[in-house]
Amino acid sequence: MIRLYNTLTRKKEPFVPIKEGKIGIYACGPTVYDYFHIGNARVFIMFDVLRRYLAYRGYDVTFVQNYTDVDDKMINKAAKMGITVDELAEKFIRAYEEDATALGILPADHHPRASQHVPEIIELIQKLMNQKMAYEIKGDVYFNVEAFPGYGKLSHQDLEELMLGARVEIDERKKHPMDFALWKKEKPGEPSWDSPWGRGRPGWHIECSAMSMHYLEGMLDIHAGGQDLIFPHHENEIAQSEGATAQPFFRYWMHVGFLNIDQEKMSKSLGNILTVRQLRKTIDPLAIRYFMLSAQYRTPINFSDEYLEQASKALERLNSTVYNVKERLENVAEGSPDEEEGALLDLIESSRENFKKAMDDDFNTAEAIAVLFEFTRQVNIYLNRPQGQKKNILKPVQGFYREINDIFGIIKDRHRTDLQKDIEGLIAEREEARSHKDWATADAIREQLKEQGIILEDTPQGVRWKIAAKDSEETT
Ligand code: AMP
Ligand code: ZN
Repeated sequence: MIRLYNTLTRKKEPFVPIKEGKIGIYACGPTVYDYFHIGNARVFIMFDVLRRYLAYRGYDVTFVQNYTDVDDKMINKAAKMGITVDELAEKFIRAYEEDATALGILPADHHPRASQHVPEIIELIQKLMNQKMAYEIKGDVYFNVEAFPGYGKLSHQDLEELMLGARVEIDERKKHPMDFALWKKEKPGEPSWDSPWGRGRPGWHIECSAMSMHYLEGMLDIHAGGQDLIFPHHENEIAQSEGATAQPFFRYWMHVGFLNIDQEKMSKSLGNILTVRQLRKTIDPLAIRYFMLSAQYRTPINFSDEYLEQASKALERLNSTVYNVKERLENVAEGSPDEEEGALLDLIESSRENFKKAMDDDFNTAEAIAVLFEFTRQVNIYLNRPQGQKKNILKPVQGFYREINDIFGIIKDRHRTDLQKDIEGLIAEREEARSHKDWATADAIREQLKEQGIILEDTPQGVRWKIAAKDSEETT
């Protein structure tokens, strides 16, 4: 049984989808006016792992993540760059796709854009108008928060408390200071559409209500985003959706904790951002992914180069083990398992159970990774044992790594062709030196490879190489 923490009830609850066997997930995606930063990346990675895990658990998952492409930030940036809002969106959607792919994030089933769903948005606003939950003032349309008694139920505050906590722009025309825009009257030079209230554009919150209902009809199971979206974005989504349909909107609300830098939230407005685009130049993007998974998604994480470096090293060790298993598989035969091997086969089963237990408990990726590393520690011991290894043991070990990696997506499916070529070139040079009894050169090459973590073994069949598996202590 999967249990997840629901922001709406502030409890860990058993997860039961509306339609048996099917799950709908809607995650609020990026505003595509710039490269995304690693705070955003935490959210995107987390929900990528969530949907993969739910699929692994046998559910038919429909995952929707929008691109916000109509928004003040978009309009301002496009004006600054002297391009249209559409061109700006194209540029940064492309950039998102590239960076997300590098982070091992799979494309969503749908990536809707607000600009492509204006008719559905207008229809929803019209419903709210019909029910007197929204009102128009000179081409602007506002949601009337006082008309929706449940306002504040997600952030667990009433209107008064919310007023104290939020910076509310005083707008004399609004019935209540917390009323928010559903439709904004056209301004010169801004993208706009025809509507019953004149030309204009949708406000931000309404797009997610309209698009999630459009793509996930009858399966509004999980709605997700970063913690900063609880209020006002998700609170407003609930109000306008339930106000319009008189039906409960999403059942489970999941929010990812902040990624902080020096104890402050990473955000563009604070000017302390690091984009994935920048980081990718110097670090393996899968190390960023690994770094995010090493904490449970609700705990805040502090980012530093040092932590990222540690993540990178840990991941490298995991990759070496997986690579060594693959390499060894090509050189060993089948045989009946001895006691130690029987224990390793049992460990696969128990590790799978422990992995599921950790993930079923509100997607505790930190625990799940610990399970993977304990498993890896035992695999390294097996790889290093003098009696040798067997194919029928290494095969299920490899299978288990692949199974986990279908969810975590951190292990490189590397072909290593370039690396292989370099290493094989050096081995050939060393053989050449040895044939001339030039031991100094031969030893120097062995040392050079060793520094790169490559160990040479002179066997009767010739020279073999492997990536140094670190000893067990270092693997955790
Ligand atoms: P935005 O493009 O600003 O709308 O953000 C996209 C997603 O990233 C949203 O789900 C935000 O809640 C989330 N987000 C933004 N900054 C951070 C941060 N520092 N840590 C975690 N999540 C964040
Ligand atoms: Zn949203």
